[in-house]
Amino acid sequence: MPITGTCLCEQIRLTVDLDQLPETSACFCSNCKKAGSTPMSVVMRTPREKVTIDGKPNVYPDITTTSGVIMDRLFCGNCGSPVLSRTPLDPNHYYLKAAFFDHPIPQPTKIDFEHRKEPWVHYDIGTSASVAHL
Ligand SMILES: [Zn+2]
Ligand SMILES: [Zn+2]
Repeated sequence: MPITGTCLCEQIRLTVDLDQLPETSACFCSNCKKAGSTPMSVVMRTPREKVTIDGKPNVYPDITTTSGVIMDRLFCGNCGSPVLSRTPLDPNHYYLKAAFFDHPIPQPTKIDFEHRKEPWVHYDIGTSASVAHL
């Protein structure tokens, strides 16, 4: 049973051909904070072939990444909701924004840029792992 989600105005829809949402990771980097105006971004690394995008998201090519490699940030041009990120460093996956889906957000199992976390943010993860931010 595919999983679907929409942006706030419902002009963009994602369908993920999986039975359950993939594991999530939380990112505290400053670019994710700005792009979502949130203290963290929670994303799901998902094989691109499992994802269908309906609608036409805008693409912001973020070149201010720590790695220096472009990170496309897709968002709805109408309501501004973040949709997903993609990078040539990981060409077979999308990083889907977890709150896009009408499901409880799976508990993150990885943390990126933990040193950028605000001291007032407290979280609970399954296993803590420091992974390279893409
Ligand atoms: Zn929208
Ligand atoms: Zn980030």
